[in-house]
Amino acid sequence: MIRKLLQKVFKRKKTAETVGDSLFQLHIIPVKQHGIHRNQISSCALKITQELQKAGFSAFVVGGAVRDLLLGLDPKDFDIATNATPEQVRSTFRRSRIIGRRFRLVHVMCGLETVEVSTFRGPSPDNGHPIKINDITDQHGRLLQDNVFGSQEEDAMRRDFTMNALSYNPATEEIHDYLNGYEDTSSRTLRMIGDPISRYREDPVRMLRAVRLAAKLDLQIDAKTAQPIGDLAPLLQNVPVARLFDEMLKLLLSGHSLACVVDLRARGLHHGLLPMLDVILEQPLGERFLTLALKNTDERILQDKPVSPAFLFASLLWHEVLASWNSYKVHGEKPSVALHKAMDDVLAKQQKNLAIPRRFTATIQEIWTMQPRFELLSGRGPFRLMNHPRFRAAYDFMLLRSESGEINAETASWWKDFIAANQEQREKMIQIIHKLSPPKKRKNRNRRKSSGNKTDAPEKAAS
Ligand code: ATP
Ligand code: MG
Repeated sequence: MIRKLLQKVFKRKKTAETVGDSLFQLHIIPVKQHGIHRNQISSCALKITQELQKAGFSAFVVGGAVRDLLLGLDPKDFDIATNATPEQVRSTFRRSRIIGRRFRLVHVMCGLETVEVSTFRGPSPDNGHPIKINDITDQHGRLLQDNVFGSQEEDAMRRDFTMNALSYNPATEEIHDYLNGYEDTSSRTLRMIGDPISRYREDPVRMLRAVRLAAKLDLQIDAKTAQPIGDLAPLLQNVPVARLFDEMLKLLLSGHSLACVVDLRARGLHHGLLPMLDVILEQPLGERFLTLALKNTDERILQDKPVSPAFLFASLLWHEVLASWNSYKVHGEKPSVALHKAMDDVLAKQQKNLAIPRRFTATIQEIWTMQPRFELLSGRGPFRLMNHPRFRAAYDFMLLRSESGEINAETASWWKDFIAANQEQREKMIQIIHKLSPPKKRKNRNRRKSSGNKTDAPEKAAS
């Protein structure tokens, strides 16, 4: 018993010492092996590394940019890591400012480009760091503060995946690799640095990052890295909602949203984010609609076309709204009142999980409330609808509904023609609708009451 205890203590001490004494071997990979030349680095990032090195500091391009270049992709941005403190970086560059609290880093601006410069971080508490763990983590082990500076090696160790821990020195064109990230990049293996369970506990968002990076970069998640994800999924509930929303948006705007959502569901990660996904995907129409919406989003992103987050969330939640709308109607509610109640319910429920910021919810509601109006093809309705500031988004949304089989194809094709037509032709189209289905005569006494409620009596689309 005592021997076991001693062994335990001894083991723990040894781990701490080994980390301090450099546990991992540095591999320096020359340019003739990896093939990344300094002209592939953005001019701003290049200038920053040169200036810092001139001032006597070390400076490397790090993280996603090195990984993406090795995978033959164009990096989205270039991050720099240095042994200069944020204040030293700040005083080296005139156009720079210190940002962040949990991670203090410096934004350096050159022209329109902004590059993030961070000081090498010290090791995480689970790797034998002397800081008392309870002081900087919550009760689930999530890191709340992370401003301990360290060496280049320690900085590499506290990144998430081995392929994200490579450093590139533009001056020598060499890659510094402490964790076999180069090999993992070559074999397209996404591998967590250290013990996956404690790394996910430290920051549960890493589970979402694993799913996103694997889908986006076509990588295999290493078995030990993938295995704990299902069990630890509930930890996402402890992540601040704003961060969760940002990460979810990154995932949906990655150009691979469909693959990501399918994978999120397969790993049980969607429960706290989009809890109704299971229900939606079980209905054939729901699955078709969501698949089309995400595919569309991915295609737009790959073609460099803008994508609206509001449109995306309106799509993700639409079939929940439809189900609730129908249920209110079945219980005798007027269609327009039922729709508003359904929207309120769905958004309120969603706020408890992945809170959608208010700036998006107004647009989401507009897209939804305009939908019944696409099926009212008579009178001045179509003209008024076309003048709505959100018409384009609502129209695209209606096309998705039609493509997924929710509304008839004639409605969509009527609208396509209506948009393409000139004013005179549009008037004629409306007249034809009138002839095909003349508006019902209303008794005088009802006229005032019903005029504000156009969506209550949907007339049939052109057939
Ligand atoms: P992207 O292509 O989406 O930008 P990225 O890996 O560059 O992918 P960033 O969010 O830009 O992602 O992060 C830059 C680097 O910071 C990562 O490559 C990784 O080394 C490190 N990093 C980011 N998030 C985490 C995290 N949650 N835990 C540990 N390291 C992280
Ligand atoms: Mg990045």
